[in-house]
Amino acid sequence: MSALAFDLAATIRHDGQGGVADELATADAVRDWIVAKAPLVAEVLGRPFDPGALPVGDDVQERLVAVRRAVRSLFARAVSPAPPSKADSQRLLEPAEALRLLNEAADKLGTTHLEWPADGEPVTRWSGRSTEPLTLLLGAIGRSGIDFLAGPERRRLRACPAARCVKYFLQDDPRQTWCSPSCGNRERVNRHYQRKHAG
Ligand SMILES: [Zn+2]
Repeated sequence: MSALAFDLAATIRHDGQGGVADELATADAVRDWIVAKAPLVAEVLGRPFDPGALPVGDDVQERLVAVRRAVRSLFARAVSPAPPSKADSQRLLEPAEALRLLNEAADKLGTTHLEWPADGEPVTRWSGRSTEPLTLLLGAIGRSGIDFLAGPERRRLRACPAARCVKYFLQDDPRQTWCSPSCGNRERVNRHYQRKHAG
């Protein structure tokens, strides 16, 4: 699968001080993230993606954050009946609205076409009804989210239950409870402390 939609969802994280940090909080941060993920976007599109061609302005941030909200709302549904990430559990979209947003973004890529160079192997490429870079970016994210949620990895998705963690992660093993060893250790220490002080 492409990690693009999953990586977008992970831009909301624990800040290490009991709060939540948003990696897409400023226009500069948004641009950095897109530059870093350009290879993943290109992988989904089947063609190079130039982040430098994106328009400058709030629109990119606003629309990226809107798609992220849709992805995270569907992640919340995927992990239920377990509780979702605490970062945004108060402002999730209705599943129908989240699906509409994701599908609408992906729809702009059109359908897959077969390309078969004279001297190479046949490859599939999204036909790309639009050449507008923001549309291609959001389309690649939509496509990646659809593949993830319709694929086998959805069943491994978990929201880390550690008190201060807001992460979604892919469970490697059915016994894995926490997103990372550090979350597991912190929780064990907390529980030990609570038992000792509960009387
Ligand atoms: Zn965690």
